[in-house]
Amino acid sequence: CGIIGIISHRPVADRLVDGLRRLEYRGYDSSGVATIHDGGLDRRRAEGKLDNLVKVLGADPLPGDIGIAHTRWATHGAPTTDNAHPHATEAVSLVHNGIIENFKALRAEVLAAGRVLASATDTEVVAHLLTMAVEAGATPDAAVAATLKRLHGAFSFAILFAADTGVMYGARRGSPLVLGYGDGEMFLGSDALGLAPFTNRIAYLEEGDWVRLSRDGAQVFDSNDQPVIRPIIISSASA
Ligand code: GLU
Repeated sequence: CGIIGIISHRPVADRLVDGLRRLEYRGYDSSGVATIHDGGLDRRRAEGKLDNLVKVLGADPLPGDIGIAHTRWATHGAPTTDNAHPHATEAVSLVHNGIIENFKALRAEVLAAGRVLASATDTEVVAHLLTMAVEAGATPDAAVAATLKRLHGAFSFAILFAADTGVMYGARRGSPLVLGYGDGEMFLGSDALGLAPFTNRIAYLEEGDWVRLSRDGAQVFDSNDQPVIRPIIISSASA
């Protein structure tokens, strides 16, 4: 339902929650945050209100200067902590808005490959497809490009790869996603309101786009994986 991503040079967990607060108006049943720190992916998730996630983070803080966050409105799988996003393997963590229509066939394929699914969502299988692609030797760019082509339905994603703390990915098809340009840091949001606390310099991804963000900027690709430029505009969403 709501997505925030931050790639920065300072801790992100508190700001990810601030961004989610701006998206609460959309409604949600659970929430979660993932970062990369000390060489691996880590996450905290909670059912119910964002305050529950804040309590979990208070008891067990999440370090890291790159991270993604989500407020979920369940479509497939009950609104439980195990079904809350981010979903993850050892190698990939992601958050998803929308519905993956062909998730049953994809889940069967991933299970047949011997992998274990930990949730009942349509989302988790995408983390496994990305993981299988990088395990087969694909670069993160190639894994994202190839995996997106396998998905039917409407989605936006924010994606982390454990092996690279210098990049974050986003993708948009049928569900909006916005880039935010900061000073030595970059942001992803499901709408400009979510990014208002951080920056007013934004760019809207177009239908079918995916993007690789670094701390210094972003490279957008269209649905044919061709590099494209999406103009930076000044958002009027107020912080
Ligand atoms: N279909 C996904 C799920 O049920 C994402 C729902 C959403 O957009 O929050 O987990």
